[in-house]
Amino acid sequence: MRNALRQQILVTGGAGFLGSHLCERLLAQGHEVLCLDNFFTGSRDNILHLLDHPRFELIRHDITFPIYLEVSQIYNLACPASPIHYQFDPVQTTKTSVHGAINMLGLAKRVRARIFQASTSEVYGDPTCHPQPESYWGNVNPIGPRACYDEGKRCAETLFFDYHRQHGLEVKVARIFNTYGPRMHPNDGRVVSNFIVQALRGEPITLYGDGRQTRSFCYVDDLIDGFLRLMASPAAFCGPVNLGNPGEFTIRELAEKVLEMTGSKSPLVHRDLPHDDPRQRRPDIALAREQLHWNPTIALEDGLRPTIAYFETLLRGTPHPER
Ligand code: NAD
Ligand code: UDP
Ligand code: UDP
Repeated sequence: MRNALRQQILVTGGAGFLGSHLCERLLAQGHEVLCLDNFFTGSRDNILHLLDHPRFELIRHDITFPIYLEVSQIYNLACPASPIHYQFDPVQTTKTSVHGAINMLGLAKRVRARIFQASTSEVYGDPTCHPQPESYWGNVNPIGPRACYDEGKRCAETLFFDYHRQHGLEVKVARIFNTYGPRMHPNDGRVVSNFIVQALRGEPITLYGDGRQTRSFCYVDDLIDGFLRLMASPAAFCGPVNLGNPGEFTIRELAEKVLEMTGSKSPLVHRDLPHDDPRQRRPDIALAREQLHWNPTIALEDGLRPTIAYFETLLRGTPHPER
């Protein structure tokens, strides 16, 4: 007999960094999980430990094509997330955000499922307002190399709110700020994975620009807790809501922390700042605190410890217990 509280939940991008953690948490809550992924940046390794689970199912599919499934909730995470990956095939990135959103919203509309969108702090572009509240409309270059991602995600937000207004769909839009943790891709060029891998290999730490630009880093467990709270919030609350850790660090400070924690002797080297690289970023999370009673609790050092341990195991070539 089916448990009345058990939901059938689709997680697109479920074999990725965030998606795999989300699948794990949903299974632990007793739900049935359909993990959908085309393995563009995700990997079977991330979900290997879930494949034999009786409530877990893997579907290899690209969300830019329609798909017909019966589910009660959808988390739409499918999209390459790091600048290297999303700029590799920018047209496909926009298609994934826009056509993918249309297909997932069409599916949600047909089965009357509640649907969550993994949006991003990139919708704020290079912000002229600091920290960034949800009411800030952003400063995005629509024709630059980051636009495929930023504008794709902005258009996806538009679609979510139009399906809500036009079709009465229950939507939940999270604007995710930089998140890190085990199962980050070692070659995706993001700053946390780059610095840890470089430090562990004794290679130079690549500081882009002067390293004075800032980011706020959220540990993955805190973020997933925010996802679950947002999905469970009253139907009237659609967001968008910022999810991120307001602790703000310069990129140089992050490099120094990683060096200290790994005991590495890697030198710091400077490289050119990428085009349109935002100078500062910190979430204003007053709305998440008020509506979701969510507050990230894991300090940078406490989150870096398991992340460094994960990359140590990965670089040694032995499977990590978490995988
Ligand atoms: P990731 O690259 O590890 O995961 C994305 C997953 O989507 C991968 O498994 C990939 O194979 C899959 N995918 C890509 N295109 C697809 C398609 N067309 N059809 C089906 N699957 C597809 O990245 P992540 O960090 O886990 O990010 C997950 C989501 O969260 C993304 O939508 C991203 O934009 C968003 N996000 C992440 C961060 C962060 O700091 N990690 C910040 C802001 C937003
Ligand atoms: N769609 C899908 N699965 C479904 C229902 C719809 O993939 O279960 C896709 C469908 O291909 C369509 C898109 O979602 O292109 C948008 O659906 P909607 O019903 O909103 O629009 P329409 O079908 O009228 O274009
Ligand atoms: N960065 C860096 N060295 C690296 C990778 C990134 O200095 O090896 C910088 C990058 O220029 C940016 C910040 O770190 O200012 C965060 O970059 P990431 O790609 O992780 O995320 P995003 O720019 O999307 O926030």
